[in-house]
This record gives sequence, C-alpha cells and structure tokens, in this order.
Amino acid sequence: MAAPDTPMMIQYRRIKAELPDDVICFFRLGDFYEMFYEDAQAAAPILDVSLTKRHSVPMCGVPYHALEGYLAKMIRAGKKVAICEQVEDAKASKGIVKREVTRVVTPGSVLEENILASNEHTYLAAVCKDRDGYGLALLDLSTGAFLAERNADTELLRDSLRRYSPAECLLAEDQLDDPDLRSLLAEFHAVHVTSSPEWYFEQGAAYDALIRHFNVHSLAGFGCDDERALVRAAGGLLVHARDALRADVTQVRSMQVRNASDFVMLDESTCRNLDLVPARGAGNVPCLLRVLDETRTPMGGRKMREWILQPLAQLDRIQLRQDAVAALVDDRALLQRLRDELAGIRDLERLVVRVSSGSGNARDVQLIGHSLAELPTIREMFISSTSAFLRDCAERIHPNPDLVTLLAEAIADEPPITIKDGNIIRQGYNDELDKLREAAGEGRQWLANYQTSEQERTGIKTLKVRHNKVFGYYIEISKGQSHLAPENYDRKQTLVNAERFSTPKLKEYETTIVGAQDKSVALEYDLFLALRDHVSAVAEQIQTTADAVATLDVVASLADRALVYRYVKPTMTSGDRICIRDGRHPVVEQMPEAERFVPNDTEMDCTRDQVAIITGPNMAGKSTYIRQVAVIVVMAHMGSYVPAREAEISVVDRVFTRVGASDDLARGRSTFLVEMQETANILNNATERSLIVLDEIGRGTSTFDGLSIAWAVAEYLHNESSVKAKTLFATHYHELTELSLTMEGVQNYNVQVRERADQIVFLRKIVRGGTDKSYGIQVARLAGLPQAVIDRSKEILTNLEEGELSDAGQPKLARQRTRRVKTDDSQMNLFDA
Ligand code: ADP
Ligand code: MG
Repeated sequence: MAAPDTPMMIQYRRIKAELPDDVICFFRLGDFYEMFYEDAQAAAPILDVSLTKRHSVPMCGVPYHALEGYLAKMIRAGKKVAICEQVEDAKASKGIVKREVTRVVTPGSVLEENILASNEHTYLAAVCKDRDGYGLALLDLSTGAFLAERNADTELLRDSLRRYSPAECLLAEDQLDDPDLRSLLAEFHAVHVTSSPEWYFEQGAAYDALIRHFNVHSLAGFGCDDERALVRAAGGLLVHARDALRADVTQVRSMQVRNASDFVMLDESTCRNLDLVPARGAGNVPCLLRVLDETRTPMGGRKMREWILQPLAQLDRIQLRQDAVAALVDDRALLQRLRDELAGIRDLERLVVRVSSGSGNARDVQLIGHSLAELPTIREMFISSTSAFLRDCAERIHPNPDLVTLLAEAIADEPPITIKDGNIIRQGYNDELDKLREAAGEGRQWLANYQTSEQERTGIKTLKVRHNKVFGYYIEISKGQSHLAPENYDRKQTLVNAERFSTPKLKEYETTIVGAQDKSVALEYDLFLALRDHVSAVAEQIQTTADAVATLDVVASLADRALVYRYVKPTMTSGDRICIRDGRHPVVEQMPEAERFVPNDTEMDCTRDQVAIITGPNMAGKSTYIRQVAVIVVMAHMGSYVPAREAEISVVDRVFTRVGASDDLARGRSTFLVEMQETANILNNATERSLIVLDEIGRGTSTFDGLSIAWAVAEYLHNESSVKAKTLFATHYHELTELSLTMEGVQNYNVQVRERADQIVFLRKIVRGGTDKSYGIQVARLAGLPQAVIDRSKEILTNLEEGELSDAGQPKLARQRTRRVKTDDSQMNLFDA
C-alpha cells in the first residue's frame, strides 16, 4: 500500500510538504499512525519499533491507542510531531479518506498529561527584538495562561527566561541569526529554539491578531498599546500557536502584561544563589519552594512557584496577602477545613482546557464535576472574611451547582477512557438510551437461551452460537455432526473442523441486538458531546475559579508553613530599615543533617547601617547568614511570614546577589569575567531601595587584585549617592574591616568562633566588630591536610603577617624560620611559580 504513486501516498506527500522539515508526520492509517521515508528512519529508533520497507518505501508505525506513550518518547527526544488524522469516516468516503493535520505537538505545545509536569507551567515562548527592547511572550497551552513583558536589554531577558524556563522558544525567521539572541539562547540548553514565519511577527499583523482574538478595539486595556516588541512577540506567538501548531487558542482568554515595576526584580544569579526554586529537571533539591510548598492542588503548586519568583514590589498589595495569611494563621480550624476541601480538587485549569478543546474524555468531565462540588463550602468559608484578599478569592469562585448536578446525574461511576465505545452515561439519565440498552440486553439473553434450545431441539451437543466481526452471529457445528443440521439452517462457511450456519431467527435477533447496541453507543457519544459543550460554555468561569482556588491554596500553604515552622508576620514599611530579630535561614534550618540552627539579628538602613562587612573564618556561617537575610526579604515580599522572632522590612525594588568565583561552565565564560560582569550589573542598576548580597567578591583573582576590587566595590556602594543600597558583604579579606574607620555607613560584623587548643569551634553567632584573622589554616587542619603542610603554612603566614617584603615589594614567603620540614623542599614551596 505504500507504493510511492498510490493516491494515498500522493496525499501523504502533499500534507508532508506543508509541514516544516523538522516535523515528523504521524499519518493515521486505520488503527495505526504510520511514518514514511526519512520520518520513519528518524522515528523508528526513538520509538523502538521496527523499520520496514514496502515497495522500497521505508516505514514504521504505532497503534493509535498507544499514541500518548509514543508521543512522550518523541517529545523527550526533542522532536516535533504532526498528528495527521482521518477526518471523515472511512466507510462513508468514496475513494481516499480525507486527512488533515489536527495538531503539531512540540516541546512547548504538549497537552498530554504523561509528559507535563503537574506543578510547573510548560511554556511556549516567543522573543522578538525591536527598537524598544525585547518582547517576551509566554503561552501555556495546557492551562491557557498567556503572559507578555518587555525587557530593556539582554540581561533582563536572560533573567526572565531563567525565571519562566520555557520548554521552547520561537524566533521570527529573520531574527534567527541575530547575534544577541543567538548567543543568549545558546545558554539555554534545555530550550528548543524554533523558527517561525516572520510575517507572524510583523507589527501590524501581530497587533491585529491580538485585538481580534480578544475582541477589543485596541490594546490600551492591556496597557501595551504602544509596546512594539511586546506586541510583536505576543501576537506572533498566538498566530504561531493557532496556525502552525493548529492549537485551540480559544482557551486563551486574557493576556497578563507584566510590568517590571510591579515585582521585586530577582535576576538570574540571585534566584540561583538563593536557592529559591529548583532548576528545571533538577528534581527534589533543597530550596525555598520545597520548604513553602504544601499546596494541595497542582494549580496551587504552579502558583506558589510564581509567587516565589515574582515577589510584589507594592506595599499595599503585599499587605493584602499578609492579611490573608494572617486570617488563616489565626484560625487553625478554618485553615484545616480549607486544606481538607482543597485536597478534593483536581487540576481544574488543565481539565477545563482539555474538555473545552475537545480532547477531554468522560473521566475529565467527571473530575471537573467532582472538583466543582467542593467549591460551595470553600466559597462559603471566605465570602464574608475579614481579609479583603480572601473575600476576593471567594467572589471569584463559581461553583456552578447546576453543572455539578447535571454531570453527577449523567456520567457513570467509572467511565472508560475511550469516548466512542459507550458505558459513559449513567442509567436513568436518558429514556431513549435506557430503552436501547434494554433491547440489547434482552437480545443477549435470548441468544444465550437460543443456544440451549437449539442444542436440545437438534440433539447436537457441539452446537454453539458465536459471533465475529465479519459474519456477525452464527451457529457453529463440528464437522462430525454437521450432517445433523436441520433443513432451515443456512450454510455460510466451511472450515477444517466445523461448519457455520445462520438461521432467519438468529438474523432477526442479531439485527435487534446490533442495531440497539450501535444506536446506544452512538447516542451515548452524542450525549457526552453535549455534556462537554455544557462545560465549554462555562470554561471561562471555571478558569477564573481555578485561579482563585490556586490562590487560596498558596495562602493556605503559607499559613500552614508559618504555623509549623513558627514564622512571624513581618511589618512591611515604605521606610528604609530592615530589622530582623533572631532570623533563620528557612532552607538550611530544615536540612536533616544540620546542627541546631543558631538565629541571628540584622539591622540595616541607608545611613549608618548601610554596608555590613561580615568577616570570619571559612565555614563560620557567613554565606548562610547573608543569604538568610535576602531570603527573608524575598519571603516578606511574597506576603509570606518569615523565619524570625520579629521583623520590620522596608519594601525593596530589587535583590541582587553575587557569589565570587563559582564555576559557570555552562555559559562558557571565564568565572572571573562572569563575576565582574555581574558585579558591574549590580553597581549599574542598584538603587537606594535595593538589597545587595555580595559573597566573597574578588575571590576569582589573585589576592591583591581581589582585595583591591572588593575594597573599591564596597567604597563605591557606600559613596555613590545614586546607589546607596543596603549591602551585605561577606569576605575573607579581613582587611576590609578598615573601611569602617573612614566610612560612617559601614559596620563590621564577624561570625564568632572560639579557639580551643589550635582547634576552632563555630558558634554561628554574628556580632559587631571585625576579625583580624581568617583561621584558614585551622579549617585546613580540620579538613585533614597533612600536618607537615599545616605547619609550613603557619610559617608562611607568620612571614606574611610580619610584612616581610623582598626588594621588589613581594613578601618573602619562602623564608624558612625554624627547622626544615622533613619532606621534599620543592613540594613545600606552595607559592612557587
Ligand atoms: P562561610 O560562608 O562562612 O564559609 P557557610 O555559610 O557556608 O560558611 O556555613 C558553613 C556551614 O555552617 C553551613 O553548611 C551550615 O550548615 C552551617 N551553618 C551556617 N550558619 C549556621 C547557623 N546560623 N546555625 C547552624 N548552622 C549554620
Ligand atoms: Mg561562604
């Protein structure tokens, strides 16, 4: 059948020619999806199916009912698949069956539950560069979520891409070779870059596509009427989804235009350094998300991640959330009831998209019904809450009781996965269906009786009434006895061992049974489609409801964690003070192997306590402490309670963190260069309202270089009036403590340690004042460096501290003071060239 010139293969080639080259076509042929030519060759090894050849055409195939599993394999291998279906009934068609591509499945447009992560959005992104910056649009086809924002430069774009970590990113064909975009996207190995026709992204076309889609006159209502890059990205993305992917974009009911000033900016390295959420695919690593996320629904889980990565920058909005969390913290019984109710709610966001886009089955529809049934109680709990935020959530919940009743009455208890084989509709829902089922049932009963009565009448023991697809019902008698068949038996077929007969009575009943069964299955299908339409009619309401439920879920989770971990509600202000009593690091304190966590205080402002220099030996707890302050600030801006006894926190615009000399091999840049680039980014962008956390800046180069840079950076942050940002600076350069002598906004702190007979005990307590020692050698000792090395390094240290310099001004490190160590000399000269 795969002869190259049959009408079907001509049809295949026509369809294939309309698809981009990198899309593999799953061509529906009866019960299989077949692939041909190079598609078959590419797919067979991925799908682990055998590659065959017919009429010298390479081909392979997979059974239609197992599509999901095979799609998952293709997508995981980074492939794109066009599903080409038979769009008319094969029996009804004359000549060749009409076929059409109904969906193109790509890493960013997957809808299959087995491929999607339940608590993470799977975004298809589009980036478009224009004179006003980089437009970024994101679409989650499984939930209908659609966001757009403008990023002024590639740094900001990078941060956003990290934050949303899309699965796939579209670029207009003519921007594919843009050097900035190319090098940026090359950093994102996990993101598939897809070329999209450039006319999708043409300004006028993109604008029109958006206003048509949302049925508005202009984009002013979205606050992006004059945004060129943003509109092009968003419009292009929507058109690509609709036309190139054949996706059902009617599920996209609004567009959230993200305004950078609404959120605390967290750049990419800050998110990473603070361990806010795990990187895509990193699994269950310790992070803030894991500590805070006790949500009960998948959409709640997705929203929790959003709240963490996009803390609010506006005092009143933060306080609304805080009051909501407080209302639940203060009423544990209410919190418990809410969480119990939430547990009964399924992924409404995704269910409603599946059902209203026509791919949902009866189980999906049933789950929507069950989930909606939980809602009246939840709505009731908060509709007159003292918290305006909770009240607003309650108001956005539409329980749709009529739909719930309808679905409960219509759908059977355990409906099958398939929607065309019946057993979906409950007994008693539809009179006609009940009658058809009764008729089919009676027919089956009659058949069972018929076999017995015919055996008795003819005396043939081996007589059986059977059924197959080709002949329908027939009577089978073994060869040895077939001569006994009565006159009225009509011989139909002779087999080796048996003969098959029909009788008029059998035919008559067959018609009744088959007719009734066919009709009842067809009727069930129609009834099911009608139910799906009922759901689609209120899809938008259900989406709003799901969002409100997700929000309640996040608030409940924050309240629960606050109670369990004894967090407090921070006082948020528009002033300039950050004051934390007994603060803890929320992630480190939960580590199972951790020692008892020692809480610490923090006191910062933009004047006297602007720059805190934190010194202390390695392993003392400097890094933990400065991150803890930043994480607490992030949590506070989410509206969450914080791990402290007491906290007053002024609203910040950005949190920056930079950690010296960590490897950044993924980006292929020198670590020190990266360190300096990121430091430059901080110095250029920080404001008086920013919080900066610097950990060991300058470590990535030689000591004198590093110290000088660290010194100058600290000075700049303190002196430059355009910056004046609150800064926590952890360093092993204890020389930096001298900054406080001349600068009044610089305060010294150190992490206390106790020395005990050449050992050190870490007390983990931050106290005012600098250290004059770095204790590195003691730590080296603890780590098990050979005693000879330890002794020699002490010697060298003493030389250094005495400032013994050579004529060239270099310390005479190698000077031998007392005795020679036994070991080979050259090995001991650690600092030799
Ligand atoms: P430094 O940056 O000074 O080298 P770290 O912040 O990396 O030190 O801390 C070293 C270890 O000490 C961490 O792994 C952490 O488990 C532990 N630690 C840090 N701070 C505390 C604290 N306040 N209470 C208990 N353990 C702590
Ligand atoms: Mg450290």
